[in-house]
Amino acid sequence: MPTFHKLHVIEGTQPPATPDEEVRKRIRKTAKPPSMIQCHRCGGREVIETKIGMLLKDGKPTGGTKQLLCALCFMHGERVVLG
Ligand SMILES: [Zn+2]
Repeated sequence: MPTFHKLHVIEGTQPPATPDEEVRKRIRKTAKPPSMIQCHRCGGREVIETKIGMLLKDGKPTGGTKQLLCALCFMHGERVVLG
């Protein structure tokens, strides 16, 4: 009779993934890592938020297209759109 050494397969060597961790993993896969907005002309990191084409509705400005301009370039009379 040959002797069989029974191998115990140990399952669950990885820590069990909790629902929270699963969600975080999914976000990490889909979301882009945040990156600093920086002016491509002067390297500045200060921005001004502007809006183009806003509507005055009931005395309140609404809508419009948001744009980010470099604050440093703007001070020098340059209009550098960052996004
Ligand atoms: Zn700039």
